[in-house]
Amino acid sequence: MIIKCPHCQKLNRLPLDRVHENPICGACKLSLLLGPIEADQVSLKEILNQNKLPVIIDFWAPWCGPCKMFAPTFQVSAIKNGEKILHVKVDTEANPSIGHQYMIRSIPTLAIFKNGSELERISGALSSTQLAQFVSRFK
Ligand SMILES: [Zn+2]
Repeated sequence: MIIKCPHCQKLNRLPLDRVHENPICGACKLSLLLGPIEADQVSLKEILNQNKLPVIIDFWAPWCGPCKMFAPTFQVSAIKNGEKILHVKVDTEANPSIGHQYMIRSIPTLAIFKNGSELERISGALSSTQLAQFVSRFK
């Protein structure tokens, strides 16, 4: 799938079958995983089914205040942990079928997936300490 480099914003192909080999940006040579990856309904399916690392998904929407408040917290976690657990953001307003498919009842909701299966989810805007504790159990 194609993602924006979190450092220089250049578009790069992210090899989902080789994400554990720490893919780097072709332009700036920094890690493609050290920042949130934006996914839609098509690329989310690819991420969940083709990649071997655990995935944490932030289900959010542009109209949701707590989601916006939580975004920097999620970004910091991605910069710290993105090479061990993929940090993916899904806009549930732009991708309404995802909300149905994953039964998202409130946002923000965080869900952890490994090898295509959901392991756990938690709702609400976590503090950075709460998020660090949640993530550390899965990486
Ligand atoms: Zn780059």
